Amino acid sequence: MEDCIFCKIAAHEIPSTVVYEDDLVIAFDDLNPQAPVHTLVIPKGHYADIVDGVPGEVLAAMAHAVSEVARIKGLSDGFRVISNTGAAAGQTVMHFHMHVLGGTDLGENLL
Ligand code: AMP
Ligand code: ZN
Repeated sequence: MEDCIFCKIAAHEIPSTVVYEDDLVIAFDDLNPQAPVHTLVIPKGHYADIVDGVPGEVLAAMAHAVSEVARIKGLSDGFRVISNTGAAAGQTVMHFHMHVLGGTDLGENLL
């Protein structure tokens, strides 16, 4: 989609620190990390959010990418996956993404 920053990252039109990539998804480090490890997993196709008709095959690829990020980043102690959905959740980039957060004790709080 034109003017979507994550579509441009998926197409390698703007730079990112790529952690994992396959045909369907790409994972890259967040520009403004909220934890020692903060990586975003996105589908290469444009979907606004997790409830925007994302095909099961793409969701499976996202889950696989999350496990690859955890392995590559050494998050064997645990990590958190968040997908902000819509304005009320604070979604700022309207291209479906999962935050993978870890590398520290995240505690029991929600975020
Ligand atoms: P959300 O608030 O859930 O929509 O999260 C969007 C995330 O994208 C934020 O954590 C931003 O720091 C991150 N972000 C925005 N632009 C970029 C970029 N060019 N490269 C990496 N991360 C980005
Ligand atoms: Zn997009």
